Amino acid sequence: MALERTLSIIKPDATKRNLTGKINAVFEGAGLRIVAQKRIQLTEKQAGAFYAVHKERPFYGSLVSSMIAEPVVVQVLQGEGAVAKNREVMGATNPADAAEGTVRKLFAESIEANSVHGSDSLENAKNEISFFFAETEILP
Ligand code: ADP
Ligand code: MG
Repeated sequence: MALERTLSIIKPDATKRNLTGKINAVFEGAGLRIVAQKRIQLTEKQAGAFYAVHKERPFYGSLVSSMIAEPVVVQVLQGEGAVAKNREVMGATNPADAAEGTVRKLFAESIEANSVHGSDSLENAKNEISFFFAETEILP
């Protein structure tokens, strides 16, 4: 398997509940290395652009509002097969469907307030990483 990088976001529902360290422990325990990380306040414009792929979905407005309610922690995770590994450790979008031990099973409040974002393909990971990070900010 190839060494990959993926973009992760610890969402407002989780930063608000002081869960950044607990979520990072799950990532690190799964063999993902946090090679870049920053806590930022998203603007409505940024959150809307980041989730533009969901623009036509009924939950888009609510999703954008939820992403700007509190600061988020954006991070780059690196590891063997990091994109798929992170999706696995995140768990299903709806925490009701998430497997035991996954971040969303452990911490998510609802299908919307589901604690983490993770890129869903290597191509999207590259785009999403460059949305938030300069190459010089990523320190493997
Ligand atoms: P994932 O984050 O697992 O990749 P999606 O890309 O399908 O899921 O959706 C992006 C985000 O939109 C989800 O993480 C969740 O916060 C929100 N979302 C998805 N489906 C719904 C829904 N049916 N109702 C409310 N919010 C949703
Ligand atoms: Mg997605």
